[in-house]
Amino acid sequence: MKSSSNSESTEVENHVSLCPFCRIVAGEAKAEIIYEGVSSIAFLDINPINFGHALVVSKGHFSDFSELSDDVLCDIVSSLKIVSRAIIDSLHPAGFNIFNNNGLAAGQSVFHFHFHVAPRYNGDGLKIRTQLKVYESPEQMAEYAKMIRGKIEVNDKSGERK
Ligand SMILES: [Zn+2]
Repeated sequence: MKSSSNSESTEVENHVSLCPFCRIVAGEAKAEIIYEGVSSIAFLDINPINFGHALVVSKGHFSDFSELSDDVLCDIVSSLKIVSRAIIDSLHPAGFNIFNNNGLAAGQSVFHFHFHVAPRYNGDGLKIRTQLKVYESPEQMAEYAKMIRGKIEVNDKSGERK
C-alpha cells in the first residue's frame, strides 16, 4: 500500500517537472497569466497566431479533451467565455477562433489539455487548408453514424466511458 501511494506521488511530481503547463500551474514556470478559474487557468501563447492569442488549460493534468471530467470541462468553458469576451473587448479583432488539438496527427504539441482562443483579422495570413472527403454513398455515411451512435449508447449520459 505504501509503495503504491509513493509511486502515485512520484507520478504527479513527474508530470509537474516534465509538463510545461503543469509547471505554469504550479508557479514553477513563468507565463503571462490573464485569468484563473476554479479548475482552469488562462495565459498567453508564446507563439501566437496573432498577439493576444491565449490558452485556457485545465489546472489538473489531462492529456486531451476526452480525458476531462464534466466539472473541469464546465469550468474551462466558463473561463473560455470570460477570456474570449475580454479579448474581443480589449483588442477588437475582426473575429476569433476557439480550437483544440488532440493527438499528434491533429497538431497537439503540448500533451496537457488546452483550448486556444485566437483573435483574427482580415488578411492576417492564417490559412487552414482542407481536403474535404465525400462519402461514397448514403449507406457509407449511415455506417459511420451507426458506429459512433453505438458508442454513445454504450457510454452513460455524461459521456463517461464504460
Ligand atoms: Zn500537465
